[in-house]
Amino acid sequence: MFKFLTHPAPTAADERAKRLIDPGFGRVFTDHMATIRWTEADGWHDAQIGPRQPFQIDPAASVLHYAQEIFEGMKAYRSGNGVTLFRPLENAARFARSAERLAMPVLPDDLFIGAIEALVRTEIDWIPEQEGSSLYLRPFMFANEAFLGVRAATEYMFCVIASPASAYFKGGAKPVKLWVSDDYTRAAPGGTGAAKCGGNYASSLVAQQQAVAKGCDQVVFLDAAEHRWVEELGGMNMFFVFDDGTLRTPPLGTILPGITRASILTLARDRGMTVEEAPYDIDSWKADAASGRLTEAFACGTAAVVAAVGEIRWTGGEQAVGGGVEGPVTTSLRAELTGIQRGERPDPHGWNHTVTLG
Ligand SMILES: *Cc1c(COP(=O)(O)O)cnc(C)c1O
Repeated sequence: MFKFLTHPAPTAADERAKRLIDPGFGRVFTDHMATIRWTEADGWHDAQIGPRQPFQIDPAASVLHYAQEIFEGMKAYRSGNGVTLFRPLENAARFARSAERLAMPVLPDDLFIGAIEALVRTEIDWIPEQEGSSLYLRPFMFANEAFLGVRAATEYMFCVIASPASAYFKGGAKPVKLWVSDDYTRAAPGGTGAAKCGGNYASSLVAQQQAVAKGCDQVVFLDAAEHRWVEELGGMNMFFVFDDGTLRTPPLGTILPGITRASILTLARDRGMTVEEAPYDIDSWKADAASGRLTEAFACGTAAVVAAVGEIRWTGGEQAVGGGVEGPVTTSLRAELTGIQRGERPDPHGWNHTVTLG
């Protein structure tokens, strides 16, 4: 299905080993990429694995002007002698939903998974071995028709690149501080909040700069209509743990439907926890954190998996959450999820997808 183009000068094994010692996140890239083109006339065609190299796009390409772009994020893990992906069909399905929302053509699941598997097989030697590390995969699609008229483009490029990633939190997770944005929102009803599109990130960056200026790590966004209901971070979903053992997360709608979020909901239900997908307002968060009714809060997503929240800050105040330290529910949900992903714990829901090698 995928044509293979030989790389003229692949990275030498000793150089690769050096780059894999501590790759960090999103800086080191493998030698190859997967690409598939779409045109109105020919549909999906030209599927290939070839050398990773710059695209040639016209200065009038629609993505540069009207931001028709979507992406996914997923990880390949070493487990035993094999390589596994975590729930990749969920990424394929979400990519299709994002495409529909952005008026882009839908890539069939078998091409999405086929591109990822073909790239992972090609780059198997780039998967780092250290505990907690992985090969981060970034599928994305953009409009590359050279046309300045405002309408859905008639030409697209789908691509997957791969980037070795260190464990997100080295030497134990330090709880993050969140800035409660009172002037910016990330999504409104009817908008693109549930689609994984670059534009959502572009509009969140100024709020993220504010968060950093306030000494925080991330922004927590509230709803657009009332500026009251907790939605999510720029790239992670939120969970709350209460002293009666209840686990709560904001409902779907304007937030991004995280695969980590869905997996944690399932694991918590499996444990017999009371689980609520229900709105939570920022004033309750402040009051419950102060009273101790809220015992833990954490954020989750593919990159960091689970990150404890130790403090929230807002204009004119701040409040520790869970005494500023990571709580036991956060720790054990992370351990369970990462254990499944690394093949060290039973996988009762069949979430791991083995990549067939050779
Ligand atoms: C990708 C993303 C998440 C997390 O989704 P996962 O599938 O768990 O990685 C959460 N929020 C936003 C805005 C995202 O883009």
